[in-house]
Formats: sequence, structure tokens, C-alpha cells
Amino acid sequence: MGEWLGVIGDPIEHSLSPIMHRKWFADFGWSHHYQAFRVKRDDLKQAVDGLRALGAKGFNVTIPHKVAIMPLLDEIDDEARALGAVNTVIQADGRLLGTNTDGLGFIESLKEKNVSYAGADVLILGAGGAARAVGLSLARHAGRVDVAGRTLEKAEALAHDIAKTTASAAYTLERAAARLDGYRLIINATPVGMTPNIDAAPLSLERISDQATCIDLIYRPLETRFMKEARQKGARVLNGLPMLIHQGALAFERWFGRRPDTTGMETYLSQILGAHR
Ligand code: NAP
Repeated sequence: MGEWLGVIGDPIEHSLSPIMHRKWFADFGWSHHYQAFRVKRDDLKQAVDGLRALGAKGFNVTIPHKVAIMPLLDEIDDEARALGAVNTVIQADGRLLGTNTDGLGFIESLKEKNVSYAGADVLILGAGGAARAVGLSLARHAGRVDVAGRTLEKAEALAHDIAKTTASAAYTLERAAARLDGYRLIINATPVGMTPNIDAAPLSLERISDQATCIDLIYRPLETRFMKEARQKGARVLNGLPMLIHQGALAFERWFGRRPDTTGMETYLSQILGAHR
């Protein structure tokens, strides 16, 4: 009959995780199941109790539950504790262990794409959950990791945490735009530019270096305005699919002890997203 797994969040209907994990199950010839469940904020505890009672092998966690789920689990590993959020739960012997594969998945995606990040000067746009995962993970490798945000206090709080590992300063988006040429890696970790608001961009790229790599964590659309403008300025651009795929592959490995083949997944998901534009 196979194991069953899933992803909980709200909204959830556009999640690519079921498509991705089912493809990997098929690659291995397994009959496991992976389902998306819409779980409202107030129903999180009941949902977690249900997943435990019904014996789910594991599940992914997305907006808005990544932080709220932490006290509902039996154990939180060091990575999830360091990032202050859980995106993957593993069930073993009735106990629920929370981990987080977002940051390591992002780093894996940089390696796969040959983006150099060791010693680089990095700017992260946004100070929410994804910015935190990416920023704290990059802090272990980069030269400096600055944060620019709409709400300066939130950017300062993240920069303060990053500064425990590497140099970091916080800026408003406007101030960051004025000093963009100093960064080799610029990452949009805000939802600005996501479908349906595809004409929006988080900041002006007027001063970007043509040596920069710009990564948008968004993958709907596959090319955001941020990416398009950066590409037109001569920068290298990537969307959020590689991170999505690698955080998913790391979760899969935690559940099954096997590494899925990520080759071809970006093309597969791009075709699905392109077809649903
Ligand atoms: P979040 O926790 O809600 O944080 C969003 C951040 O964006 C906050 O810092 C927020 O500013 C900022 N923001 C929101 N609207 C803005 C606007 N109109 N102008 C300027 N800043 C704005 O969300 P998240 O989980 O970090 O997700 C952020 C993005 O990353 C989303 O697009 C999500 O889809 C994407 N993501 C991708 C992956 C992947 O695998 N590719 C994984 C996770 C997330 P304030 O600080 O002022 O609130």
C-alpha cells in the first residue's frame, strides 16, 4: 500500500511539492502517497494530531505554520532551532521530529548552478522566513550578508542574528538600491513580483553590477520583473525552482534515507508552470 506523506499550509492549492515528490516516488517505483492539505491557522493542532494518529511517515510545512508548529512537535533539531522554523517533519515510533531544509536546500541550489558564494558580499531583500533561512545559511560561507527590508526594524533584527556569524548591516530598500553595485549576490526573498502582481519589483536595479548574480525565490512567474531587469543589466539570474527542488530532495532523504534524482526536475516543473500560466 505504501507510506503516506503530505504538505500542510494555507493557501496550499498551488504547491508543487505533491508533483515533485510523486515524480520521485515513481522514479523509485514506490507506491507512496503525497497529498496537499489546506490547514487553517486555528486548526494546526488538530491537523498535527491527525497526522500523528494516522501514521504519516512525514510531512512538509509551509506558510503560515512554519513557526507555529514548533511547540506541537516532540523534538526540534539544531538546524530548525537555528532558523527558528520547521519546514519538514519526520515521524518515527510515534514521535514527530521537526527539521528545516530551506537553508541547506538553497546552498545546494547554488552549488548545482555553480554560483560562487564563498566570501561573497550578499544582499537579501526581505526579512521574513525565507530571508532568515537563506541569510543564516549563507552567513556560514559569505563575506558579508546585508539585509534590506520594507520594515527596517525587521531587517535590523535579522541582520543582528546574521552578525553572530558574519558581517551584516540592515538598510531600507531605497538605501540598498543606492549601493547595489557593491554586491555580487542579490536575493529577492519578498513576494514582490509574484503572480498576479507581475509588474512589481522590490527595488530599482539601476546601480546593479553586471558581475552580479540575482536570485528570485519566486517561481511564479518563472521570470519575475526583478529577474528580467537584472538580466537586461547583464547580471546572471535564477528563479526559485532550484531552491524548491533541493529543499524537497533533502526532506525526501530525511524520510527515506535515499537521495532522489534532481536532474530534470527543474525542466519538468518549468513545463508544468509554463503550461498553467
Ligand atoms: P514572509 O515570512 O511572509 O516574509 C515576506 C517578507 O517580504 C517580509 O520581510 C515582508 O516585509 C516582505 N514584503 C512583503 N510584501 C512586501 C512589499 N510589498 N514590499 C516590500 N517587502 C514586502 O514570507 P517568506 O516565507 O519569507 O516568503 C518570501 C518569498 O519567498 C515568497 O515569494 C515565497 O514564495 C518565496 N519562497 C520560496 C521558496 C523556494 O523554495 N523557492 C521557499 C520559501 C519561500 P516586512 O518585513 O515588512 O513584513
